Amino acid sequence: MNLLNVFQKLRPFVRPYRILVIATLIMTLIGSFTAQVNALTLQYAVDSINRLVEQGLGLAEGWHILITISVILLGKEIINAFVQFGQKFYGEKLRILVSQDLAQGIIEKFLTYRLAFFNDDNNQAGKLQTRIDRGIGSLTRLVQIFFIDILPLFTSAIVALGLMYYANFYVGLVATCIVPIYFWLTFKQAQKLGGWRRNLRDGREKKSQGILGIINSITVIKSFNRESIESEKQLKLQKELTDNQMQTRQISFLFDGLKTFIEQIGIVLIIILTAYFVLDGQMSIGMIMFHVLLFNNVSAPIRSLHRIYDEVNDAMIYSESFFKILEADDEIEQSGTQKPNIRGQFDLSNVEFYYPNGHHALKNINMTIQPNKITALVGLSGAGKSTLISLLDKFFEPQSGTITIDGIDLKDIDTQYLRDHIGLVLQKNHIFQGSIFDNIRYGKTDASTEDVMQAARKASIHEQILQLPNGYDADALMLSGGQQQRIALARMFLKNPPIIFLDEPTASLDAIATEQIKQSLDEIKQGRTVIIISHSLSQIIDADYTYVMKEGEIAEHGEHDALYHQDGVYKEIFDAMAKSLNIEKIARTFEEDEDTHS
Ligand code: ADP
Repeated sequence: MNLLNVFQKLRPFVRPYRILVIATLIMTLIGSFTAQVNALTLQYAVDSINRLVEQGLGLAEGWHILITISVILLGKEIINAFVQFGQKFYGEKLRILVSQDLAQGIIEKFLTYRLAFFNDDNNQAGKLQTRIDRGIGSLTRLVQIFFIDILPLFTSAIVALGLMYYANFYVGLVATCIVPIYFWLTFKQAQKLGGWRRNLRDGREKKSQGILGIINSITVIKSFNRESIESEKQLKLQKELTDNQMQTRQISFLFDGLKTFIEQIGIVLIIILTAYFVLDGQMSIGMIMFHVLLFNNVSAPIRSLHRIYDEVNDAMIYSESFFKILEADDEIEQSGTQKPNIRGQFDLSNVEFYYPNGHHALKNINMTIQPNKITALVGLSGAGKSTLISLLDKFFEPQSGTITIDGIDLKDIDTQYLRDHIGLVLQKNHIFQGSIFDNIRYGKTDASTEDVMQAARKASIHEQILQLPNGYDADALMLSGGQQQRIALARMFLKNPPIIFLDEPTASLDAIATEQIKQSLDEIKQGRTVIIISHSLSQIIDADYTYVMKEGEIAEHGEHDALYHQDGVYKEIFDAMAKSLNIEKIARTFEEDEDTHS
């Protein structure tokens, strides 16, 4: 990716603010002319005063020169103040607005991406966020550098150089010769610093990650008495960082010195050359000042060239990965167009599914999920149960085989329409930052207060919410795991979908909370198509039909009794569950309890 590419890609984001760009450019142009006024004024002053002095005249005749200089310089400063303000303000406004649009643009875009995109190792939450933040940061810096740093400095340099050539071709030529040497030095400096700067950045990141790591694992560090080891690890990082810093500074100062030397050589050459022309009678004495000051304007942008070069390089590295995210069009979730009446019968035939990392998670799956029935998926952890549900919700697409709902291929169904008809309750449901009310209403954003409360009642959480100091306005994140799970169920009741997927809805809860939720779950299952993944015996027994999965395949299926008597995987899992509950001992406890009471 080169700079031109980056600017082309940025164009759509800058286009809406054309007026701002034009305003900035006009300011820049005015600024580049006012920047030359000092040189012109000084030349005029020196020459006019020199002429008076040569004629033996004094202050009485020179007043008008002083007044003219004062008016010109003051006028220029007033114009300059406006120009500077306008240029900085418009440039900054442009930067802020472009940054806002880039941030919103990428969010809108990646919300449309399929789940597989977020599953990719490169796109884990932290990495994605860093890439987006850095991308936006460096792209907007690029806009800023261009409009606030490069453009004004370079136009001013070009105008100054033009004036020098206009006044005297040879002086202009000398000034121009210095420029490539300067460019070359800057390029070398940036090249030499490149690696060190990258190391410096990595070192800083590692150091702050190290500190975070220590804070996060402080209990473990202390319990194993590992304070000195952790401290040594940090010392090593710190030393590397210090070495890096020293190296960077050394190279920087060396090149800065060289550049100042070249610049001074330039000035000396110009003084000698102009002095020669003055002595030779080809130039007035004021022209010495004129050229020296103009040369200062020519070398000013080059002085900051190295900083600009670094920033542009950074911008190109980061913007590349930013645009990769923004332009991942093949990741956009595919949707069909059909919106049939949904009954809820799923048919899967010969379904094969591989995760993006190549893991073969589902193998030759053939199954039917009956509408308005409860189907249980049973299997050891990692068997592929959750994966199957993800496919039914169109979070992923199978590589081969077909999935239909009520006889229509899932691919042809409008994805949002399908998801409107499916409710998903997971082992741990996401509670958003915000009030309980808003969290329940996430299921149906236009629901009335009464609807929300009704849903909470069905999820057996209404009474508990009322007991909280802020009631429905309380912070939902402060609720316990069991309460949060019921908020998720209330969300589901409010959405009221005909199809429900329950993926271990009570796995993270204690026995009491599970018992409390059981009623809500029984209520939610009525008259709907339900698929439940569970390790709870009671929930499995409640199912109308059960599919048993093993290592990505369907091992057995049938109703509870028939399955149990097959003496296969189901019986094995079921017995193991019963054993882990220690049912015999529990039964004995109940019997003894009854004996003592009778
Ligand atoms: P279950 O729900 O039966 O416990 P899953 O459907 O979650 O099993 O997982 C099935 C297999 O797929 C497991 O081996 C798991 O490690 C793997 N798997 C799950 N999610 C991903 C993913 N996002 N990327 C790669 N492999 C995955």
